[in-house]
Amino acid sequence: MDYLLRNIFYLYPSLKVKIVIDPAKYTKELSKLLFHSHNILFVCHVNPDGDAIGSQLALYHYLASKGISAEMISPNNLQEFLKWMDGADKINIFIKERVKCRRLIEEADLIVMFDFNHSDRLGEAEKYVLNSKAKKVIIDHHLDSEDFVDLIISDFSKCSTSELLYEIVQIINGENFINRPFAEAVYVGIITDTGNFEHGAYSGNTFRIIADIIDCGIEKDRIFNLVYNNFSGDRLRLKGMTLDRRMVVLPEFRTAYIYLTKADLAQYNYKKGDTEGFVNMPLSIEGIVFTALFVEKDGFVKLSFRSKGSFSVNDFARIHFKGGGHLNAAGGEHYDSLENTIEYFRKALKSDFPKIQD
Ligand code: 5GP
Ligand code: MN
Repeated sequence: MDYLLRNIFYLYPSLKVKIVIDPAKYTKELSKLLFHSHNILFVCHVNPDGDAIGSQLALYHYLASKGISAEMISPNNLQEFLKWMDGADKINIFIKERVKCRRLIEEADLIVMFDFNHSDRLGEAEKYVLNSKAKKVIIDHHLDSEDFVDLIISDFSKCSTSELLYEIVQIINGENFINRPFAEAVYVGIITDTGNFEHGAYSGNTFRIIADIIDCGIEKDRIFNLVYNNFSGDRLRLKGMTLDRRMVVLPEFRTAYIYLTKADLAQYNYKKGDTEGFVNMPLSIEGIVFTALFVEKDGFVKLSFRSKGSFSVNDFARIHFKGGGHLNAAGGEHYDSLENTIEYFRKALKSDFPKIQD
């Protein structure tokens, strides 16, 4: 398990510095917290993707196999293509059940957070989590961790939090652990964060985990269909309209962007998750290395960025939009009109163009 030594950061609460440390130590620490806390609560990031839900459910199923229960919260609704997952119905939605969720946060003595590293990704749950007296842990694979918890286990060389979680569970368990709901959850996390192995930081190690998962007997084709072939006809029409009428290609900047208005979404009976993957589409155009998706919401615009090669959309999102993510996939929110956001983006693009040409 040498590969685990590479990029693991452990945050000493007293020192408030990150140091590279022996994985045996942090897993021991995490294991102690998991096996000795009374009220364990899991929280994922707002607009949770397959990796956020997959890693959260994977640890939930591992603990359940040891007779330990955990409560789960998502700040807002799950996307339609994740609702079939075993245990997804046990995730409390903060914006739907505020009173219950606030109580769960208040009562928790351990809060484990998945697949993010900035507290503003907790949405409405942020202030309650920050005020909670519980021990707080983050399991994650993003760059630029913010320091608001007791323990961060983050490895940005992993394709997904789910991959890292799989390894952590193997170490905590001592002997190999796998069961079907655990394997399915890890599988969903890995395929959604890599676009079914099209992009992202997957490695030989990812495939060794996939091999174990497949050997466990999961139905990979069924899962693929549930995640990727489970949309409405309206969603396909929205995709067609988007490519035809909402995509702007700027070959001189090696960039393309897509925008969608609230009226567009309403016209095609938008359901959460319908625009998933849209931002990747213009990367198939020859010469395009940077793409953006702008989706108009109530009072703000949701942003997604993707790149090919060395241009860091994590930096672009962080510097211009206070967002973040990974080198080639990042996002953020901008509290302005769609029109102003696009104008602001185009200015940022001009100023950053030298970096894109690299
Ligand atoms: P997506 O474009 O699929 O929503 O997100 C791509 C990546 O960017 C994910 O790793 C996600 O965690 C990150 N990301 C998306 N939205 C935000 C945001 O509002 N703030 C930050 N810090 N990261 C985001
Ligand atoms: Mn992830």
